[in-house]
Amino acid sequence: APEAPEVPELAEPYLREVLAGAGLAVEYVRAEGNTLYLLDDEGREVPVTDFAGGYGSVLLGHNHPAVVARAQELLAQGTPVHAQFSRHPYANRLAAELNRIIHRELGTEEPYFAIFGNSGAEAVEAAVKHAELDRGMRIAALAEEIAAQRESAVAAVASGTATVDPAALTRLGLTATGDASAAAHLLAAETERRNAVAVARPPLFLALEGGFHGKLAASVQLTHNEGYRAPFRSLAAQARFVPHDRPDVLKEVYAEERGVLLALTVADGRVTVTEREFPVFCAFVVEPIQGEGGIRVLSEEFAREIQEFSAAIGCPVVVDEIQSGMGRTGTLLASSALGLRGDYYTLAKTLGGGIAKTSVMLVRQAYYRKEFEIVHSSTFAKDSFSCHIALKVLELLEADDRLAYRRAAERGDALRAMLESVRTDHPDVIEDVRGRGLMLGIEFRDQSASTSPTVRAVAQGGLFGYVLAGHLLRAHRVRTFPTASALNTLRFEPSVGLSDAEIAQLETGLREVCALLRDGRGDTLTAA
Ligand code: PMP
Repeated sequence: APEAPEVPELAEPYLREVLAGAGLAVEYVRAEGNTLYLLDDEGREVPVTDFAGGYGSVLLGHNHPAVVARAQELLAQGTPVHAQFSRHPYANRLAAELNRIIHRELGTEEPYFAIFGNSGAEAVEAAVKHAELDRGMRIAALAEEIAAQRESAVAAVASGTATVDPAALTRLGLTATGDASAAAHLLAAETERRNAVAVARPPLFLALEGGFHGKLAASVQLTHNEGYRAPFRSLAAQARFVPHDRPDVLKEVYAEERGVLLALTVADGRVTVTEREFPVFCAFVVEPIQGEGGIRVLSEEFAREIQEFSAAIGCPVVVDEIQSGMGRTGTLLASSALGLRGDYYTLAKTLGGGIAKTSVMLVRQAYYRKEFEIVHSSTFAKDSFSCHIALKVLELLEADDRLAYRRAAERGDALRAMLESVRTDHPDVIEDVRGRGLMLGIEFRDQSASTSPTVRAVAQGGLFGYVLAGHLLRAHRVRTFPTASALNTLRFEPSVGLSDAEIAQLETGLREVCALLRDGRGDTLTAA
């Protein structure tokens, strides 16, 4: 329904217009389980089956009764929601519970320290900042060590216990003019100058093509989609994007970007120049299953290659589980099933049970810098309300011998079987079915060269997936969306309560969409 005329439209009116173009600008007034209710023109509630699942934030369903009850209880008790700079036992309990589950899945005991945030992108920003703080501290320690070596080399030459290796001078393009001591000073000044240049280089991130890590200033530079990233390039450090399953490209990027610091060392009475690896790479940020990039599962082999590569170059791995995590694929962390271990993890979305806005960044002890706690914070982060809700979410996931994880896997299998059957019947329309558990996608074949002008127009309009989503909503009362960076892929991320009837409802819709595309009936797809 249009806004009342006296209310000016100022909250993203352009976006509303674009959604309206695809028939998606409806208002939802109530939500429960897998169902959202929209208001029709007569003001009646119409149920819509939700496969968009709050973009991954309602794995337990909209307004899960136990989550809502906990929220009501907290508010009724007058819980102090904002009590910054005090003890936060609930945050500790939440961190401990996350650790207990993660340790079980990874088979490790190393603690992960928790920094809480308010949104997914904020958790990624915290990881980026922490990794940069750590990198800076490692650089400072390395520079200090190199300075001490340089000074003792110069002193050794001055005292006559060492001489300068002529090859060292040649290597740096220097010609000594005076005595040995002058040569040592020349070497010292040149290595110091070159090191200053190396240290001034901005950090570099590694990320995967198709990756999505948020839209804040630093995180959007890790998000591959050019449209989101390019306008803001100058605001933050850059990433090199690597295609999936290409360990050779990893090695290439490393060879191109690696940096060294030069040290002066004394061996056998000679001062020589040695290279120390300079940590250019701040972090390797990966999703175990790319969500916005079109529901793409990282292969176990490439996961292992990323892990080994990063360990070899001393670059921490940030595993972004914001969409894939919290039980969606049958384990708390989708990456634990792939054999990928993160030095950092980010979690959000379902962590807030569909009602709180919260996120967490976890850092393993070996990398943790306690100094971060003093320099990073947010007014709203780590509040009691979100922590208590997140504790309830973990309790619900773990209840009944971890029933929710099994449900996610089992319901995911059932949904996937249906998607596969549609693909089998429409190989000309559907390119691929991908994902794990309740994080599934179907990729439609590019229709921009369709023989039907109406289908061609839809495909070339740039909103292909949104047009399909609009039709599914209008004609089948099913809510889904394309992934943000791969518009030919529709996403399915319903709750663990997904019923067979709801799967059948989606199947009817998808089969009709496939038939319309096959038969070139683009006009029916776009008809309002
Ligand atoms: N990382 C991933 C993997 C995501 O899927 C998302 C959100 N789609 C984000 C980060 C950003 O989270 P938020 O929208 O809460 O900032």
